[in-house]
Amino acid sequence: MNLKQTLLTFLENNLFLKNGTCPICGKVLFVTNRFLCHQCEDDLPRINNPTCRRCGRPIFAADRDVCIPCAKLNLPFSGGYAHLNYQDAGKKLVAAIKFKDRPHLGIWVGRQIGEAIAQSDWIKAVDFIIPIPLHPNRLQERGYNQSQKIAEGILQGLSQNISISPLLATQILVRSRDTPHQIGQGRQERLSNLTGAFTVDQIETIQNKTILLVDDVLTTGATLAESAATLLEAGAAKVCIASLCAVAE
Ligand SMILES: [Zn+2]
Ligand SMILES: [Zn+2]
Repeated sequence: MNLKQTLLTFLENNLFLKNGTCPICGKVLFVTNRFLCHQCEDDLPRINNPTCRRCGRPIFAADRDVCIPCAKLNLPFSGGYAHLNYQDAGKKLVAAIKFKDRPHLGIWVGRQIGEAIAQSDWIKAVDFIIPIPLHPNRLQERGYNQSQKIAEGILQGLSQNISISPLLATQILVRSRDTPHQIGQGRQERLSNLTGAFTVDQIETIQNKTILLVDDVLTTGATLAESAATLLEAGAAKVCIASLCAVAE
């Protein structure tokens, strides 16, 4: 055992640090309640204005407030927030939450998202927070749904900042088809692959309700758009979205 391994084992055994290293740079973390090292936390690629008022992704024109994908495809979002740019440390953070068994990292960053959207004008209307569901096969593979962990954090962040508390609903939107991984596909291809991928259980629960959908990454918007369309067709009044990371328009 080399020195680093010995030290890590010591820390894990004595200070209850599971995964006691920074998931972005790999440095050992010495305090129990931190999830990234100070440097990486400071360097997270936070999204600054201007952003799309429908989906929250960064836009590059001062003369409009809706991004090109939302305008072009008429994406059905009534409000949106995205926390980080999907690049560098943002990508590593998502990968750590999804593939490296770090669900607590999702809750931690979700809390920051909750604190941020507590300031938005649309949050007060939200009745339900619904994470994008995984197909049961993938859920079993991973052991948890990363979007649900982010949603749990959002709820904590909201409840510390505003008096309303929407309900976290994980049984209403169901992934009924195990769709292939969508990396490298165009927007049209993604949308057609997803048609019919989601269904709604307990339709009566969402009638005329406003829903906040939560996903880890907003790329083309296809997954969130298909989920939103499914909920709206089933009787929801409005759908807003929150994503941990977003690709700029
Ligand atoms: Zn770090
Ligand atoms: Zn948009």
